[in-house]
Amino acid sequence: MAQYEAVIGIEAHVQIRTASKMFCSCPNRFGAEPNTLTCPVCMGMPGVLPTLNREAVRKAVTAGLMCGCEIARRSKFDRKNYFYPDLVKDYQITQYDQPICRNGKIHICGTGFSGEPLPDKYIGMTRIHMEEDPGKSFHFGNCSGLDYNRSGVPLLEIVSEPDMRSADEAYAYLTALKQIMQYADVSDCDMEKGQMRCDVNVSVRLRGSDAFGTKVEVKNLNSFRAAHRAVAYEIRRQIVLLESGGTVTQDTRGWNDDSGESYVMRTKENANDYRYFPEPDLLPVVFTEADIEEFRRNLPEVPEARRERFVRQYGLTPYDAQILTQDKAHADYFEKAAAKSQVPKLAANWFITDLLRLLSESGKTIGDCPVTPENLAALVNLVHGATINGKTAKTVFDEMFATGRDPAGIVKEKGLVQVTDESAVLTFVEQAIAANPAQVEQFRAGKEAVLQYLVGQTMRLSRGKANPQLVMKLLREQLTK
Ligand code: ADP
Ligand code: ZN
Ligand code: MG
Repeated sequence: MAQYEAVIGIEAHVQIRTASKMFCSCPNRFGAEPNTLTCPVCMGMPGVLPTLNREAVRKAVTAGLMCGCEIARRSKFDRKNYFYPDLVKDYQITQYDQPICRNGKIHICGTGFSGEPLPDKYIGMTRIHMEEDPGKSFHFGNCSGLDYNRSGVPLLEIVSEPDMRSADEAYAYLTALKQIMQYADVSDCDMEKGQMRCDVNVSVRLRGSDAFGTKVEVKNLNSFRAAHRAVAYEIRRQIVLLESGGTVTQDTRGWNDDSGESYVMRTKENANDYRYFPEPDLLPVVFTEADIEEFRRNLPEVPEARRERFVRQYGLTPYDAQILTQDKAHADYFEKAAAKSQVPKLAANWFITDLLRLLSESGKTIGDCPVTPENLAALVNLVHGATINGKTAKTVFDEMFATGRDPAGIVKEKGLVQVTDESAVLTFVEQAIAANPAQVEQFRAGKEAVLQYLVGQTMRLSRGKANPQLVMKLLREQLTK
């Protein structure tokens, strides 16, 4: 295995979030009853004309600029002709030789999916072009059905250079791409709703060789994990094939996630099988320098800039900022909580150590998180204002997550307000001292560590409500007098 090197390039499809479809005014919406979001244009009726969606174009340019692409001053649409039941017109409107964006790059670094360190490097982006999504076919029993609600939904096809060298790099590229698309406000990239799909191209060659090996394309991977598995599987399959004296054939394969194997779908078609030709019903998309400048000025914050701002503005460590900004929805949530928190840094700690854990344990996402950012901030402020201590706060937080209630209500109902009254705390301290003569002896003999034990006993007697700093102070006073 070691004398081979893998070469991987990825073609990703990302649905652009717009109010309406690419060439008609039907809503671009997921989950409606089949064929209720259609019109003569997206149903490919004779005699209709497409009208280009300005918002889709704007988002395509934004995506390109966020990935460092050159934006074409002039790009055009083409027809890609093929027959498939989900393609109502028998051609797809796409961009062939004049895509809207070219020559971008995406940075990957850190730790890979399998826990190995990744090389710090850029993956080149060959092009981004706009196209329309076809419909979707369903199979049930021995029938098939077609839903054209998706027909005409705007897509970006994002093609990478063959710059990746491992399944981990492919996974990291996809993760980084998704992050940028979310930050660019182009797409939510929700893979369960089909908003992001990818095909991986894989070849292997002997290390040190300049030429690429024959590539195989594995199509329609609907999770990053499946993409990672498919790449790893293909690399191994091709090496075993070559080692046994065989040759790789350039086919298009599918992926069976249950068996963990790829299978042949068809042998590779050529571009001229599609009879691409310019779309006669649409004008080219033309930008002036000033248009591009305008786009550039209105660009959203990129993840790296947001990370740096979090460090500056909220006093976070670069590591914390990195975790919080990985997912834009997480970063947005944190900023809402931070805005209402007396100490934003504490809100970050709660988010990273407790909220992320509870989300992953419960299989929830930040979108359906039972704790609102306002309630997280309220909890932070209760701790900061010493109304409750840190330990009680953990219990309150679990309850907030389980019920969606606000912290003040829980604290009040359960009588969890921190005891900060000296004489009340002193009673608990005296009880703890009386109940643990052996430990008291040890402490007096110089065993400093025993103090923690006595703090614990006092806290227990107060049912967790005493102020721990006060307990510590009073214990010391009592034991040393
Ligand atoms: P095709 O003509 O088959 O569509 P392209 O040249 O358009 O091929 O490339 C499609 C994708 O395959 C791109 O992401 C590209 O980086 C990748 N690719 C091209 N050649 C190879 C190769 N030898 N091994 C792995 N990936 C490759
Ligand atoms: Zn329509
Ligand atoms: Mg191609």
